[in-house]
Amino acid sequence: MNHPHSWVASANGHADFPLQNLPMGIFSPPGGRPRAGVAIGDSILDLEALLATGLLQGEAATAALACEGGHLNAFFALGRAPRLALRERLTTLLIDGSEARGFVQQCLHPAAECEMSLPARVGDYTDFYVGIEHAKNVGKLFRPDNPLLPNYKYVPIGYHGRASTLRPSGTQVRRPVGQTLPAGQEEPSFGPCARLDFELELGIWIGAGNAMGERIAIDQADEHVAGFCLLNDWSARDIQAWEYQPLGPFLSKSFITSLSPWVVTAEALEPFRCAQAPRPEGDPRPLPYLWHSVDQAQGALDIELEVLLHTRHMREQGLAPERIALSNSRSMYWTVAQLVAHHSVNGCQLQPGDLFGSGTLSGASAGQHGSLLEITEGGKQALTLSSGESRRFLEDGDEVILRGRCSAPGQVSIGFGECRGRVIAAT
Ligand code: CA
Repeated sequence: MNHPHSWVASANGHADFPLQNLPMGIFSPPGGRPRAGVAIGDSILDLEALLATGLLQGEAATAALACEGGHLNAFFALGRAPRLALRERLTTLLIDGSEARGFVQQCLHPAAECEMSLPARVGDYTDFYVGIEHAKNVGKLFRPDNPLLPNYKYVPIGYHGRASTLRPSGTQVRRPVGQTLPAGQEEPSFGPCARLDFELELGIWIGAGNAMGERIAIDQADEHVAGFCLLNDWSARDIQAWEYQPLGPFLSKSFITSLSPWVVTAEALEPFRCAQAPRPEGDPRPLPYLWHSVDQAQGALDIELEVLLHTRHMREQGLAPERIALSNSRSMYWTVAQLVAHHSVNGCQLQPGDLFGSGTLSGASAGQHGSLLEITEGGKQALTLSSGESRRFLEDGDEVILRGRCSAPGQVSIGFGECRGRVIAAT
């Protein structure tokens, strides 16, 4: 199959941002204020500058106008049709042979010179727990005979996270301090976290949302998803172990959550949707409000997810980051539509720019685990790195890099860009 190329040469064959992706984000060019842009190859297309050329009309112009102001909330609120109109117009403008090339070229910035911000003002952030292999792996550490609690296969488990400490990729991760209960002790200690971890997750950006008291039906849920990103739910395991009963994680998760800054739209991901894996024999059928045949047939996502670790020693030695996990979003036990339907079923309001985390997306086997808690079995088995170092949990100077990539036969591959964070010492 022949796929269209772009006159932006770096887009053709680009690992993340070919013409077929066109993710949206908020960037600042050198010396400039934050504004909306679209990633194309190694460049960023300035949407405000493009709007000023008069090359956008109708719904595409409406969509671009909604991106003004330094955040994408109003754009997310518009829903699918204007987003699709903008995508189609951008494709026409950026495709090889476009007559508008001369004008559009004036609106490009080299991405390497720009700084990325969070794409939206996040009102609420909810972290789910739908990676069933992660839930089993973690459950096994605590309950070897009964890793999954009885509600897991009925309810998409989640908790309300902290929106104020969401940060874009590249933000340093200060090791938190807090209360822990050291093994064998009766009284808690206070000090720096000694069991700092990452969690490989998919982020889900909410679109139009619902009025309080109304719910989003599962067959409408995809209309309320604007796009996706990578999310690192940094976790202080020792603080978590002491504080989590009976209400769940609190300060062990709220010190920072890192996001990849580009919003990969639902439209760009369309070719990489797939059937939800059939539930194993004996698993209950979801309740009717969580079940829809179309969602089961094409509501899952096939995104290859990767975790790399770059220690201070590796950087000093000029060594490349080392991959420590390779996983896939197909390990989600619940689809994104099921999460939206469940979150709103009690009348809880979802608003444009709300963010969901999927929960850690691990596979079943070694090499597919999306947290050090699983990789090292709770710190019992050290991970040996090719640099000669070993890790049970993260050390100061360690940088964790998440990557995501979609491939399918007959399709141009697209990617998410990176979600990076480097650990710095506690204060
Ligand atoms: Ca999490």
